[in-house]
Amino acid sequence: MLYIFDIDGTLADLSHRLHHIEKTPKDWGSFHEACVDDKLIVPVAEVLRALHPTNTVVFSTARPHSTFEATWNWLTTNGLAWEATDNLYMRKSTDHRHAGIIKSENLDRILLRLPLPLSDIIAFEDHTPVVEMYRARGIRTFQVDRGDY
Ligand SMILES: [Mg+2]
Repeated sequence: MLYIFDIDGTLADLSHRLHHIEKTPKDWGSFHEACVDDKLIVPVAEVLRALHPTNTVVFSTARPHSTFEATWNWLTTNGLAWEATDNLYMRKSTDHRHAGIIKSENLDRILLRLPLPLSDIIAFEDHTPVVEMYRARGIRTFQVDRGDY
């Protein structure tokens, strides 16, 4: 099976940096820069660790590519990154479209590289519009939180 894990709100607790985007105007730059201080969401990380030895795990995040190094270091530090860095699918730093669009395109890229039946792919995700996108595309999805930020 192929498991697609979201990062923000699924594996990474972003509650400490939400204040950057709960004001007007939203400060997306500071919001993303603070990702290095995210705490691990342990129960979901434990599921990933249990699945990893016998399955393929990739990460799909709407974080901008400018945070690639910080994100990969965070995954490594938290013992979640065993695969090559090309298993981390991100948003182009200049692309400001909705996370659902970004992750649908990430899914296209994943399927190009790992052409599997949709029934062999499972997603872990918190953000409701992205969950709906995955389900509309035929991907069984575990929603791990409300993700309505
Ligand atoms: Mg998320």
